[in-house]
Amino acid sequence: MGIVYKKSLHGESDEKILVCNNCKTHFATYDQILSKNFHGQYGKAYLFNTVINVYTGEAEDRSMRTGLHTVQDIHCAECSTVVGWKYLVAYEPSEQYKEGHFILERTLLHCV
Ligand SMILES: [Zn+2]
Repeated sequence: MGIVYKKSLHGESDEKILVCNNCKTHFATYDQILSKNFHGQYGKAYLFNTVINVYTGEAEDRSMRTGLHTVQDIHCAECSTVVGWKYLVAYEPSEQYKEGHFILERTLLHCV
């Protein structure tokens, strides 16, 4: 107990990897981006099915430009920076495709 083995995305292919801007922890590959049409707190943001090496914060209701959502902040597992959020519930039927998906803020990522 106590030792966290971070997962790595290297070795599969030469695809680009999105990492934490602060500590270079791997989150997802560039190919895993579902949509780039999202906006975060700091500008552009990407939508993913899943990301790795993150942990979630408290669930809270947040009013966004696309309506009310229940979300959890997601933190880098290494340096604890908030790097985006996870959609738990979308209250607008047109937004429900986002439920269970993750957002990472573009400016908090580095591409390697
Ligand atoms: Zn980090």
